[in-house]
Amino acid sequence: MKLQNITLLGSTGSIGVSTLDVMRRHPDRYRAFALCAHSQVDKLFAQCLEFRPRFAVLRDAHLAQQLTEHCRAAGLATEVRHGVEALIELAARPEVDAVMAAIVGAAGLEPTLAAARAGKRVLLANKEVLVMAGELFMHAVHTHGATLLPVDSEHNAIFQALPTDFSRGLEDCGVRRILLTASGGPFRTVPLAELANVTPEQACAHPNWVMGRKISVDSATMMNKGLEVIEAHWLFAAPPAMIQVVVHPQSVIHSAVEYADGSVLAQLGNPDMRTPIAYALAYPERIAAGVEPLDLFKVGRLDFHPPDFVRFRCLQLAYDALAEGGTAAAILNAANEVAVAAFLDRELPFLGIAEINEATLAALPAGPQRSLADVLAADAEARQVASRMIRDRHFS
Ligand code: NAD
Ligand code: MG
Repeated sequence: MKLQNITLLGSTGSIGVSTLDVMRRHPDRYRAFALCAHSQVDKLFAQCLEFRPRFAVLRDAHLAQQLTEHCRAAGLATEVRHGVEALIELAARPEVDAVMAAIVGAAGLEPTLAAARAGKRVLLANKEVLVMAGELFMHAVHTHGATLLPVDSEHNAIFQALPTDFSRGLEDCGVRRILLTASGGPFRTVPLAELANVTPEQACAHPNWVMGRKISVDSATMMNKGLEVIEAHWLFAAPPAMIQVVVHPQSVIHSAVEYADGSVLAQLGNPDMRTPIAYALAYPERIAAGVEPLDLFKVGRLDFHPPDFVRFRCLQLAYDALAEGGTAAAILNAANEVAVAAFLDRELPFLGIAEINEATLAALPAGPQRSLADVLAADAEARQVASRMIRDRHFS
């Protein structure tokens, strides 16, 4: 089998580290071509020592210089680059077979789009790409013959439960509904009155998954599930009314597909991202991922509840943005990134996140999504509006 060259966007994050763990188990299959991170020099250097990539990328020149010196001292041939241009180039280079898109937030949009335009195999964890620019991104995937494999556990589960030719249309395949499962996060049963005072530490303590801080907060507001509804819409060309969110606190069923004949096909497993990562890396083959086998006797029971759109206002906002179309989801995503960062910095109370998201979405009219420039302009404007609201309202 040919050794696959992998560009890993976001190698030092939660998904990045899990991806390297799967790759470490299969050195005969995968080789790190480029490891890209934001600012964690020491962590990236340790990864370079182990995986010896051709390239390593950091956000700015000063950090890249530090990494260059470390690599030189260690006798590593890794070439160090910096900035978004380097990410774009290394996602699209001819030597690259697959790109793991695992940067968090809007920062991953341009390099991931570049990978799609270069016709790569794109392993997509960075859901914000589809939320911001679903129309453009899917168009690029289809036009340039890229292979898109969802890494988000729910979408990976849905992908596994759908027939391989689902792109000819869900209805033609006999699909009635997509059942998108959600754990409900750490605040599913916390009394509403207490939500006003929850801290970033409480919000990041997810009951089932260990993840980066932004997605952890998104899980606590259920904005994450909202982003995933939009993600599922684009990935599977699913009308919003076909996507049913199902709260399932155990996170054992990662999602399911209901068919016209009454069959429901689900994918189950322990909540460990190495399963969908390994699936996407090896597709259509199956490889070992280091994941504990699922012990159904230990699981014992599985519970299901309808989502609470009052407690989790952000989930409703995602359906609203999807219905509005164009750049509405990009506006919502940008407001949410600003609000979550402010919450993590203790400049905004937890309930302020939904307030800022809703107010920003209401303040800005959505425009058409014709080009990347449209998306980036909507993103920038929404960030400004959201930041100003947080400043002016003197939250906290
Ligand atoms: P994380 O915060 O742990 O890691 C983010 C990575 O992106 C880091 O390597 C960081 O260095 C890099 N990064 C951030 N900004 C950057 C920039 N401007 N330029 C270059 N690199 C940058 O996040 P995570 O939890 O690994 O999540 C990554 C993505 O995967 C998110 O979009 C998230 O929604 C999605 N996802 C994560 C999980 C999970 O279990 N962690 C599950 C499903 C989907
Ligand atoms: Mg998910």
